[in-house]
Amino acid sequence: MPVGTQATVKAMTPEELDAAGAQIILGNTYHLYLRPGCDVIGRFDGLHRFMHWDKPILTDSGGFQVFSLAKLRKLAEEGYAFQSHIDGSRHLLTPEKSMEVQICLDSDIIMCLDQCLEHPAAREQAADALALTTRWAQRCKTFWQAQTDCRNHLFGIVQGGMFADLRARSAAEIAAIGFPGYAVGGLSVGEPKELMMEMAAHTLPLLPTDSPRYIMGVGTPEDLVELVALGADMFDCVMPTRNARNGQLFTERGNINICNARYREEEQPPDPDCGCYTCRHYSLAYLRHLYTAREILAYRLNTIHNIHYYVNLVKQMRAAILAETFENFKKDFYRKRQVTSA
Ligand SMILES: [Zn+2]
Repeated sequence: MPVGTQATVKAMTPEELDAAGAQIILGNTYHLYLRPGCDVIGRFDGLHRFMHWDKPILTDSGGFQVFSLAKLRKLAEEGYAFQSHIDGSRHLLTPEKSMEVQICLDSDIIMCLDQCLEHPAAREQAADALALTTRWAQRCKTFWQAQTDCRNHLFGIVQGGMFADLRARSAAEIAAIGFPGYAVGGLSVGEPKELMMEMAAHTLPLLPTDSPRYIMGVGTPEDLVELVALGADMFDCVMPTRNARNGQLFTERGNINICNARYREEEQPPDPDCGCYTCRHYSLAYLRHLYTAREILAYRLNTIHNIHYYVNLVKQMRAAILAETFENFKKDFYRKRQVTSA
């Protein structure tokens, strides 16, 4: 899922997202709740019409941004009391409030409010956070069932820090409440990559296999391939869009730093085999020129390519799984990715 924090996947029109093959995008509840606010988006019956995107949208609960962005946040059983990072105004984000906002945004997939943790976190902290996350998940489900026709699919989130037994406990508790889909939260929060993979490998098989399993906030192309091999179905990450704006292009044959002098006169596109608008029409020399001249078009063209690359990677994995050739796909993926990296 490309990330559209402020009701826009940065630098992309919905038509461009569609052309890149995006089937669903992510919006951030914390940001949209504070600005422009539910009163504005509600006038448009939700995010789809507000931002002119008629395909599915997933919104997060707002908890992670309160945790990472808000000033003076205070955690209690009730929820998070916090001050806006924009104007200092005071708010209370409870599980019910998070549901109310996400229902107002009319997201197709809405996420339970969970308690996020700093990394590293002590075992006791992780145990408390997972217990609160379970109680909040139950409150979210109760509110969702009472207030909606369950048209918006509510996903539960597994926490438990970097402790295998706590992850197992959280997975069992969240699965017992029962949701249309499940997410593994609290990964990719600064822990070593091996530990992230170890926790995902441990947690994913504990979640119902007949429901979508979503790894939040991950990752590199290699991460996606490894996590799909472990059974993950969904991902969101700012990497394709943010890195595009920082001049990094992902390709089958490795990553390209567009600033590199070796591309100054390069007539080839970023990836001759890529079917995206950028690769069909523009050379690396031109993209490098736009980027070094800080032209707005650079961000657009780089983002178009990176979204196309990520969506296509997932498409290829899906096809390989269906054809029962995933192991070959994976070998081929690594062999090609190691060709060039700049
Ligand atoms: Zn391309």
